[in-house]
Amino acid sequence: MYLKNIEIHGFKSFANKINFQFHNGITGIVGPNGSGKSNVADAVRWVLGEQKTKQLRSSKMEDVIFAGTENRKPMGYAYVAITFDNADHKLNIDYDEVTVSRRLFRSGESEYMINGTQVRLKDVNELFYDTGIGKEGYSIIGQGQIDRILSGKPEERRELFDEAAGIVKFKRRKNDAMKKLDDQNQNLVRVSDILGELE
Ligand code: ATP
Repeated sequence: MYLKNIEIHGFKSFANKINFQFHNGITGIVGPNGSGKSNVADAVRWVLGEQKTKQLRSSKMEDVIFAGTENRKPMGYAYVAITFDNADHKLNIDYDEVTVSRRLFRSGESEYMINGTQVRLKDVNELFYDTGIGKEGYSIIGQGQIDRILSGKPEERRELFDEAAGIVKFKRRKNDAMKKLDDQNQNLVRVSDILGELE
């Protein structure tokens, strides 16, 4: 699996639609200060479901939408789509190519899509569990993150190893199952209360 394409339209400094195509090997993005290099990494984080504005170097989510310049009106929405070659089916989905997209309107309305079908953020997260790609994954290493990993708490470091070892999805499923069990136990308590009142 590898990243084939990033399409950006209306996200941060990218008012015009732009496509970054990647091939095998290493690709570097170079440009003067302030030209938008980090905005490309922000776009990838964002489409993978980043909800924390601080991680996107913004103060509110609307700030990711192109804000306009002297010569250009602001955009009404931000759109990012990333496409992976999935010929090896590392992503657990029946397609050889997978495109994940996110669109956000100024009204706050937003949508995620996987290969053109509208999905929930949860589905995007699940698609990338244990691949290292998700927003919590280790494939995007931001400035200062290495320091944070080295000096972080053991539990935080453990999360990275869990992701690399491929056990995050099992942990999440266990947590979901435990929550359902808890809800059912509470239902049982309510039922026995009602039965007690009826007797
Ligand atoms: P450096 O080399 O200094 O780290 P960079 O190439 O990584 O710079 P970025 O930080 O990606 O640059 O881009 C910063 C630019 O993006 C700034 O000019 C800023 O005004 C612009 N920018 C950020 N958000 C928006 C927005 N919502 N609308 C328009 N422009 C934006």
